[in-house]
Amino acid sequence: MKIICVGRNYAEHIKELDNQRPEQPVLFMKPDSAVILKNNPFIIPTFSSDIHYEVELLVKIAKIGKHIAREFASDYYNEIGLGIDFTARDLQTQLKAKGLPWERAKGFDGSAMIGQFVDKTTLGNLNALDFSMQKNGSTVQQGNTSDMLWKIDELIEYISKYFTLKIGDIIFTGTPSGVGPVTHGDQLVGFINNEEFFSLKVK
Ligand code: ZN
Repeated sequence: MKIICVGRNYAEHIKELDNQRPEQPVLFMKPDSAVILKNNPFIIPTFSSDIHYEVELLVKIAKIGKHIAREFASDYYNEIGLGIDFTARDLQTQLKAKGLPWERAKGFDGSAMIGQFVDKTTLGNLNALDFSMQKNGSTVQQGNTSDMLWKIDELIEYISKYFTLKIGDIIFTGTPSGVGPVTHGDQLVGFINNEEFFSLKVK
């Protein structure tokens, strides 16, 4: 199983990190060892002093495919979920400045929080989904998939040009604005359409 992540897919988040709006989707990967095991907390790694949460809508691939055309992309996923792309922002900033790959900042152990999935047909229009995250009871991020620069089906078309998508692969579709740091003891709770999809403790 692989995790394909999309960077810079929401205009407001691009602004908050002072990044350029990309001409094509920005892709990176997390290894399967990045996944937080069920019911485990997120443990802040010792190599970073600025770990950020990024809440993101997730797509689970249900059928193997390569060179998938946009109009058939919806045949390749049945379930939608919510998760967190944990990022060592201090390390990522250093790597970005040097033009180096982001893996250590984005793919470390525990950097992929994968919440619950539901059948996509229960959610209504996937291109107009509200999702949000609370930190210690206050909403810190709020997004709507209508603000994605590249929608789910366009992402699948683009990603599958380069990488064969296999059953069980997960796409992190990018974060809206409001990213920020976590500290010991934080509780992070994620919602799609006001329904809870995960609850995670930070240790
Ligand atoms: Zn992200």
